[in-house]
Amino acid sequence: YAKSNTKGKHQFFDSAMDEQLKLRLNVIKELKGAIENDEMVLFYQPQFCLKTNQYIGVEALIRWFKPDGTIISPMDFIPAAEDSGQIVHIGEWVLRTACAQQVAWIKQGLPPLRMAVNISMRQFKDPNFIDYVYETVKSTGIDPKHLELEVTESMVSEDAMVFIDQLSMLRMDGITVAIDDFGTGYSSLSYLQRLPVDRVKIDRSFIRRVESNAGDKTIVSLIVKMGHELNLQVIAEGVEDQEQTEVLLELGCDEVQGFYYAKPMHPDDVKSLLLSKS
Ligand code: C2E
Ligand code: MG
Ligand code: MG
Ligand code: MG
Repeated sequence: YAKSNTKGKHQFFDSAMDEQLKLRLNVIKELKGAIENDEMVLFYQPQFCLKTNQYIGVEALIRWFKPDGTIISPMDFIPAAEDSGQIVHIGEWVLRTACAQQVAWIKQGLPPLRMAVNISMRQFKDPNFIDYVYETVKSTGIDPKHLELEVTESMVSEDAMVFIDQLSMLRMDGITVAIDDFGTGYSSLSYLQRLPVDRVKIDRSFIRRVESNAGDKTIVSLIVKMGHELNLQVIAEGVEDQEQTEVLLELGCDEVQGFYYAKPMHPDDVKSLLLSKS
């Protein structure tokens, strides 16, 4: 009995794996030409400064509008695009589009916003990455001090030296760097201290219950203190209500991003929001 049971489980596991693999391969196939067919769209989620009480930046978040009318979340295709290497091509389009949008908004009368762009490790490993960033800054005319790259903690541990060198080079040009989803990885304090970064983004998982869970509040408080000691700005992501905002204000967090302030939106909606607020 035991034997056939194990075997049954095995088969189930295998076919589930199979299904997942098939799905991923299908995504990779469908992603081919998605940029060229204008199926990708960037939404922008405003970031709000608690010190000055104004919107100071946006994060570019990709959406895939498939020809059949479905909208695919980045969580459902970025991992596949990373596996296949397609993220390099997609990432170049994201960077170019986001920088051009930042410049277009200024021409439309908006204050210069910080433009945060998510970067995958696979992009950093591309030998042309740094050159591409420089070229994009030049061709779009964005002031490099308004461009921010979001990287994750886990990327840092992968190939620390190469990564740190590249980040330092980019920062020399005035580009800023944020560590995304902070608190979910395993970086040690000494590590963080050596990292050439400007901002930490506290992961949404600690914000969700920051007003009700003492442990989460302690972690957020420590990240804010540590960030400030290291001369870093601290932003909280996933802020969904007034109660969370009040705790973050009390803890001295610099900036917030979340549905309570604004959802990721179409560039025209960012424009209306910012023109109505300034
Ligand atoms: P992320 O960089 O941590 O982005 C924040 C995610 O949290 C976004 O999900 C955003 O819509 C969501 N979010 C913001 N505020 C709230 C809130 O108050 N409540 C909740 N529940 N969620 C909130 P999204 O747009 O689905 O993106 C998911 C992830 O996909 C991103 O996480 C990022 O890792 C990746 N991603 C998105 N766009 C790009 C891109 O252009 N390039 C790369 N490499 N990755 C991207
Ligand atoms: Mg991000
Ligand atoms: Mg994040
Ligand atoms: Mg996240």
